[in-house]
Amino acid sequence: MKSLRLIFVIVAVFLVACATTGPGGKKSLIIIPTSQEVAIGLGVVEELKQTEKVLVDTVWQNYLNEVGQKIVKVCDRQDIEYHFTVIESEQVNAFALPGGFVYFYTGLLREMENEAEMAMVLSHEISHIVARHGVKRLQAAMGVSMAYELVFGGEEAGKALDLAINLGLTLIFSEYSRDNEREADFYGMHYLVKAGYDPHKGLGMFEKLAAMGGSEPNDVFEKLSSSHPATQERIQNTKTQITQMGMLPSNLRVGTDKYTEMLRRLPPKATSSAK
Ligand SMILES: [Zn+2]
Repeated sequence: MKSLRLIFVIVAVFLVACATTGPGGKKSLIIIPTSQEVAIGLGVVEELKQTEKVLVDTVWQNYLNEVGQKIVKVCDRQDIEYHFTVIESEQVNAFALPGGFVYFYTGLLREMENEAEMAMVLSHEISHIVARHGVKRLQAAMGVSMAYELVFGGEEAGKALDLAINLGLTLIFSEYSRDNEREADFYGMHYLVKAGYDPHKGLGMFEKLAAMGGSEPNDVFEKLSSSHPATQERIQNTKTQITQMGMLPSNLRVGTDKYTEMLRRLPPKATSSAK
């Protein structure tokens, strides 16, 4: 029975792998199908509602969504819907969940100076979803046999989904591999320019993070400053990439005025350092 199961898994891996493309049309090995990926994402969203405070300001939520959707439109993954949410918290962070859910903390919004910087963070997060980095991490953590239950809806399917949601929650703030980060940076920059944003200004985001990195290494954008490629390396890679893009359109958006106006709308910083 075990070996039969293994054969099924191997066959499934090949079937799904053939159908799964990531950024730049790259093929990769994904066992968990998109429908289950979205179900896991939604499960994690429900859990987050218990602990995270969604910013009550439709103007801000619409703004983040509007910028996010501009990037979605040019990205390499169109089989899911993308959702963008501002969380009221002074944590300097943003993250993506499997299935198309992106969260942005007010703590990080406050550090950004223009729309291009915010868009750069969004396109980095969208790239993690396009490349299915979260799903890959999840299926590695679940193990093949539980991932199999999700694929084939066996007796343990409900249990497998619960396990995936719980793992999804614990994995939010754990680190992606350096390669995953480099890939998200690369495609993020590519999508940013395609969506019409000025990459030189977007780069300012990394520079701010580099400046912050020393003080609170565990509290900066996906733990960016700990074991991830050093921020300086990311800045250098991104600069090289911009150079390689050659002549860029002259009318790329920065959005400083609009962003400054939006910053004024944010509620005052919470004095107690909540979360
Ligand atoms: Zn990342």
